[in-house]
Amino acid sequence: MANPTPALPANPPAPLPPPAPYRGRLAPSPTGLLHLGHARTFWIAQERARAHAGSLVLRSEDLDAARCRDEFVQAMLEDLKWFGFQWQEGPDCGGPFGPYAQSARQNLYRAAFNHLRAGGFIYPCTCSRKDILSAARAPHAEDEHEPIYPGTCRPLGASHAQPAPNSPPATPSRPAGHRINWRFRVPDGEVIFFMDQNLGAQQFVAGRDFGDFVVWRHAEVPSYQLACVVDDAAMRITEVVRGADLLLSTARQLLLYRALEWLPPRFYHCPLLTDSTGARLAKRHDATSLRRLREAGQSPACLRAHWRVERAY
Ligand code: GLU
Repeated sequence: MANPTPALPANPPAPLPPPAPYRGRLAPSPTGLLHLGHARTFWIAQERARAHAGSLVLRSEDLDAARCRDEFVQAMLEDLKWFGFQWQEGPDCGGPFGPYAQSARQNLYRAAFNHLRAGGFIYPCTCSRKDILSAARAPHAEDEHEPIYPGTCRPLGASHAQPAPNSPPATPSRPAGHRINWRFRVPDGEVIFFMDQNLGAQQFVAGRDFGDFVVWRHAEVPSYQLACVVDDAAMRITEVVRGADLLLSTARQLLLYRALEWLPPRFYHCPLLTDSTGARLAKRHDATSLRRLREAGQSPACLRAHWRVERAY
């Protein structure tokens, strides 16, 4: 005899909410001309947004006042359009989550900074870059830009500098004679795991693969890590497509999402484009800039045909 159909529970679980509509982003820094490497990563981002019937946001990551220039912002917009990029929100066309230039979003970064500070996630650090380079544990330094911080100013035990005894100010300050950067204290030994949408399972160990990282710089400027997390969350980005050189940044950023109690987006890391010698393309390689290629009469379709994308996306 067939089993009777089980009775439905009196309070069936509520159906899952529909998934949020896909929102991707292009986040160039206008510190130079965009090159083919940017174009390929951005193209994958655009294709993924289209494949998911989603939208694409253009955000100008122009926090580095010393290196960002208006002429590069203009070149970025022109070159992206020439290449065939189309975005639905951005500095040129606006949108519901603007402004779309980081230099105009300081209040959001400051609020996140205050939250991290109130939660005890960050501490002031007076070390200069030179101090850190000379004290860094060289064998584990993860890249040339940010050696692992040796913990000199970490508020732990007697040998470490302590934070100011008085109640801390509500915003970062710079006492006379000291340049204070604020660092996020990473949970040493914790494995930061995430499932990359392209590269599969990824894991990094906090304190070994990366150390306490700067979230706020002495010149009243948030770091890339903090600004990026604040903006991706505020702009409701559901998937971040970026180069594989930023895998460690993603691990750091996941710690920020957790500390700020925000849900992280998904991540899709693209292999980096290299030149004929195997070296990574960089903004200083003028010959592969979109601008020079355009001036040389290249067409975007031909350039795309030369990309060797190992995996379908
Ligand atoms: N502005 C950063 C860059 O150009 C963005 C990196 C990211 O995708 O988060 O490298």
